[in-house]
Amino acid sequence: MQVRPVLDDPTVPVPEVLRGRSGQLRALIVTSRLDSATAAPVVGLFGTEAVRRPAVWMVRDSASQQPFHFITLRPFAEKRNGRVGAYAVGRWPGEVRLPLSDAYRPPPGFIEVTEENVALAVSTNFRLGDFLDRSQRDVWPKALVLDLRLADKLELLRQELELLGHRNPTIAILSGFRSPQANARGVRSAQSSESRHLYGDAADIIVDADGDGQMDDLTRDGRVDERDILALIRLVELVEEKYPELVGGIGRYRAAGGSGMFLHVDVRGTRARWGP
Ligand SMILES: [Zn+2]
Repeated sequence: MQVRPVLDDPTVPVPEVLRGRSGQLRALIVTSRLDSATAAPVVGLFGTEAVRRPAVWMVRDSASQQPFHFITLRPFAEKRNGRVGAYAVGRWPGEVRLPLSDAYRPPPGFIEVTEENVALAVSTNFRLGDFLDRSQRDVWPKALVLDLRLADKLELLRQELELLGHRNPTIAILSGFRSPQANARGVRSAQSSESRHLYGDAADIIVDADGDGQMDDLTRDGRVDERDILALIRLVELVEEKYPELVGGIGRYRAAGGSGMFLHVDVRGTRARWGP
């Protein structure tokens, strides 16, 4: 996958709606179907061939002068024997049995993540690489499934933290996309074969501004405990109240086996809650 050089990038108005509810999205994921709504702007700017192969197409927004990326996918049908190129992903449940609902159909395709684009910002605070599964470190390109409504929700959560006075509240993604193969290897007991992580719309997160790999003391009571996770849950609930289209799962996980406590959030489209 290539990121086109800056000099070639057209300057065009990027419609506000593409920035998401947070206003912070910097990318749009485009399926390889020419008749899809997402394909239209790419076809208009770069031609029909542009949606047929995986690439990142960059434009400069004429209003903000900021870059905006159209990311075209490698179609799901190009997966062979559980692999996308050399990258192993396995088989989605919907390939072997009827999906539970539309949200559980196999994804439309894969973002091809290369060493060149792994740091690409899909939103102001999140990069492609943040959502990658950590296995197969040396295999490039990697195949990523990502729903940008997840990045939108995380940006909105970040904004709620800022409103509470937390400065630079870094949301660390402990686990984003997990391929069926990676998911099957998971050691966490709660890992389900129908996990939303398979569909790229889920993230296990902590707020970790100090970068110590553990949840921060959000309640500022001098200790990191359940109350900090509950405070974070309240903010995710607030985001869902304000933006019901981003509703999804909230799962609470206690510290166990060397891993600290964390929160699962997703944008599955229906409300789901679990945890102690
Ligand atoms: Zn999770």
